[in-house]
Amino acid sequence: MAYDFSGKRALVTGAGKGIGRNTAKALLQCGAEVIALSRTQSDLDSLKQEAPGIQIVLADISDIKSTVTLIEKLAPIHLLVNNAAVAKLQPFLEITEEAYDQLMQINLKATLFISQAVAKDLVQRGLPGSIVNISSQASLVTLPEHTVYSTSKAGLDMLSKSMGAELGPKGIRVNTVNPTVVLTAMGRYGWSDPAKAGPMIARIPVGRFAEEEEISDVILYLLSDKSAMINCAVLPVDGGFTAT
Ligand code: NAP
Repeated sequence: MAYDFSGKRALVTGAGKGIGRNTAKALLQCGAEVIALSRTQSDLDSLKQEAPGIQIVLADISDIKSTVTLIEKLAPIHLLVNNAAVAKLQPFLEITEEAYDQLMQINLKATLFISQAVAKDLVQRGLPGSIVNISSQASLVTLPEHTVYSTSKAGLDMLSKSMGAELGPKGIRVNTVNPTVVLTAMGRYGWSDPAKAGPMIARIPVGRFAEEEEISDVILYLLSDKSAMINCAVLPVDGGFTAT
């Protein structure tokens, strides 16, 4: 589906790889002014080569203060995709404090303060906006060794609903997209072992993992005015996995 985002500035975090990279390119194709933020320069350089119209920004969102300062300089941001995240799989009895702090910092805390900076600016300017937070099927069901990741994403779902409830009256919608496995760098880390992938695919009613485009299509829909009545939604893009 084609959208017209001309006149809109979009920020995609974690746009160096995977779903974020695909989303940044799709937004550019639909006329948005796109800012791609990520933390590995070579990923941003290759993205810029593929899509020269994209503005690239090197930043590590775990440094929240610097990221917020940066975002204040990039404002106004009408469309925000909080996509950057990390996964670390550990059995519950072996969870480390370091992994817990890192995942909560990047997957949850950074999203809150990036969104706050973007929304504060929009409200001051009296502009509408749309924010899409990339959650996961893992926020809705348990998966082996996913405790910390799942907890960060479940927190993200409630953060999004709370943001949507407070910001909706100010013209800013907030929704989450909750994908099943996509074989990006992160997806391969969790699911490239056929002994794990096979049983997982068998539990997905459509019988396969998702493609990057199938996630970015939904992100663009939620960013667009076509979804003007959708706010505070937690939307699985999982082929039915979380319903089974
Ligand atoms: P990915 O291939 O690992 O890409 C993630 C991107 O985020 C990378 O460019 C990464 O940069 C960047 N990033 C991570 N931490 C960052 C930080 N602190 N500051 C700035 N950039 C950072 O992951 P993906 O599969 O595309 O995942 C995208 C989103 O979908 C995530 O929120 C993920 O949790 C969610 N998701 C993924 C799947 C899946 O199966 N793939 C399923 C459900 C949900 P570096 O590579 O340089 O670290």
